Amino acid sequence: MSKTPAVPKDYLDKLRNIGIIAHIDAGKTTLTERILFYTKRIHRMGEVHEGTATMDFMPEEQERGITIASACTSCQWAGHTINIIDTPGHVDFTIEVERSLRVLDGAVGVFCAVGGVEPQSETVWRQSERYHVPKLAFVNKMDRLGADFAAVLQAMEDRLGARPLPVQIPVGAGQEFSGVIDLLTMERIAFEPESMGEVWERRPCDEAEQELAAPWRERLFDVLSEDDEAVMEAYLADGDASVDDMRAAIRKACVSRRVVPVFAGSALKNIGVQPVMDGVCHYLPGPNEVPAQEGVDPGSRSKVAVGRLRKDPLAALCFKVSMETGRKLALMRVYSGVIEAGQTVYNVTQDQDERVARLFKLHAGRKEKADRALAGEIVAAAGMKFARTGDTLATRANPVILEQIGAYKPVINIALEPRTQAEAERLDEVLEKFLLEDPTLTLERDPETDQRILSGMGELHLEVILERLRREYNVEPRAGKPQVVYQETVGAKATGEGVFDRELGDVPHFGAVTLQVAPLARDKGREVAFEVDVSAWPQTWLDAVQAGVEDGLGSGVLKGYPVHDVRVSVTGLERRDASSPVGYQMAAAAALKDALAKAGPVLLEPIMWLEVSVPEEFVGDVIGLLGAKGAKVENMFDRSGQKMVQALAALRRMFGFSTDLRSATQGRAGMMMKFSRFDVLD
Ligand code: GDP
Repeated sequence: MSKTPAVPKDYLDKLRNIGIIAHIDAGKTTLTERILFYTKRIHRMGEVHEGTATMDFMPEEQERGITIASACTSCQWAGHTINIIDTPGHVDFTIEVERSLRVLDGAVGVFCAVGGVEPQSETVWRQSERYHVPKLAFVNKMDRLGADFAAVLQAMEDRLGARPLPVQIPVGAGQEFSGVIDLLTMERIAFEPESMGEVWERRPCDEAEQELAAPWRERLFDVLSEDDEAVMEAYLADGDASVDDMRAAIRKACVSRRVVPVFAGSALKNIGVQPVMDGVCHYLPGPNEVPAQEGVDPGSRSKVAVGRLRKDPLAALCFKVSMETGRKLALMRVYSGVIEAGQTVYNVTQDQDERVARLFKLHAGRKEKADRALAGEIVAAAGMKFARTGDTLATRANPVILEQIGAYKPVINIALEPRTQAEAERLDEVLEKFLLEDPTLTLERDPETDQRILSGMGELHLEVILERLRREYNVEPRAGKPQVVYQETVGAKATGEGVFDRELGDVPHFGAVTLQVAPLARDKGREVAFEVDVSAWPQTWLDAVQAGVEDGLGSGVLKGYPVHDVRVSVTGLERRDASSPVGYQMAAAAALKDALAKAGPVLLEPIMWLEVSVPEEFVGDVIGLLGAKGAKVENMFDRSGQKMVQALAALRRMFGFSTDLRSATQGRAGMMMKFSRFDVLD
């Protein structure tokens, strides 16, 4: 057996977990492809339009050209290991976006040199700010007609409230774009087209280039002098500073998110990609330089800080679980401690012990065996039984939950009806696989109609699932219209009685139950208790009462939606010779129905938490729009030069809201929406 090579003490300094965040079409996929090519992970460049890109490996993503699921790939550059975590760009998948932002320590924002800061990149950028993610920016497509580097910088300031700090500038633009100047070293960098940019050279700037770069270099010194004493002193003394000092100052300012170092290039034309990779190593933080993760103790529910080092107790988040050729593969980020192949760990979310049979380092579909993974690393595990996306792995001695389970409640459902028995079997098989990969999906079967009721987080979410069913598995069941999911509850206390006294197939059955229902606080679920002396009662009868109550709670008296946030107390039971489990179950269900009808039943609907970020001049329009949708504005404040409006709104009224918002604000508003609770919005 080969021995695992010792890991250098400073491995964390040489590890980068990054995401690439961008507006659709900005060039994220092309940039990633180039990075993988230059680091020799792929030998043929996959062009997006040919549908061969390595990261987007689900067919419908290639078709739509949007990246929905997260994947991760790893490469080596300049002595560093860079893990690139794919961040979904779509707002509908908030949990997925949040999860992937949580997993990374830094990001590269890609902007189109012509389109600049598009509203969608604004949304993801601002979300990454919420998660305190330090960023670099890459102004891509400098080769396009109308490319304007300075305008993108201005838009970053105006729209993102960012402080862009160019560390390189483009030479020329559009057809004339020919390379970049490194403002730190004052070198001209040229990329050889024949080798697809793989061969590149640096040479000192000539006079004209120096002139071009001078004002930019001045700007660099201005910002860094403000921020860093070493640079300031050197600059004051000699009008210059060493590259090392400048680099250190940029790094410090970037990690603490005071500036965003900016690079320029054209991923498609193979210009300027390698300097961005150098930038990732130079300026973005390693896992040991970002704030520690916060988790929750599963028992006490109190917050716990998670360590960042390999000597700390194990804590890892499964951020994507998928089935590969019939086997389950869980991609996880180890935050602290060590996980080893063959080890049994504690899946805290599922409260199960799990054996991690094998570990792999992953490159979008290709796997390399690994013996272990340390704090900060990203690794795929095979052979786990229980793991689902969003689960936390830790130890029984130090349990912690990193992602709250209650954070995602399915709020929209769709009824699926297979056309044939064969299709039904195939559908069930595929849906089971999807459920495992995506904890925000749930499935129920309606026993009466044999429909599969699939619930998810939003319209687009379910749409994508249907698309995958069709495209990847050739399953195309009849599908109804998406429906909002409701719940019912009670508004007051009430008692109910139920008596069952009948013959069923010549056998007499009897049961009589009295019970009380009472409202519980929101999100408290259900409680069922016996408040009557049951010591002399057969367990089978009590179980039947319980089953009758639970059945009854499954479908409320208003519209047949499940009843939640209610306490049911059984207060009276009567027995006779004909007493039977069937009798008690029927009597309990009838008593519950009686009580629910008298208890002021209430319909609860999914209430969403909405955050809209918008330039000041459009705040009035946004408030008006929210008012028209019956939303309640909760907070308003400034963040990074924009107004943030936080509101609660009924999901039912939010269909098409993002389109309305876009047209009301000329596309300038960004929006985030997530489930808050089932409630009545008054
Ligand atoms: P993504 O949606 O952000 O992943 O963007 P893609 O990488 O799929 O790129 C979108 C389109 O822009 C594709 O047709 C690319 O070929 C094109 N593209 C990407 N980078 C550049 C670039 O640097 N210059 C030009 N002219 N086109 C580019």
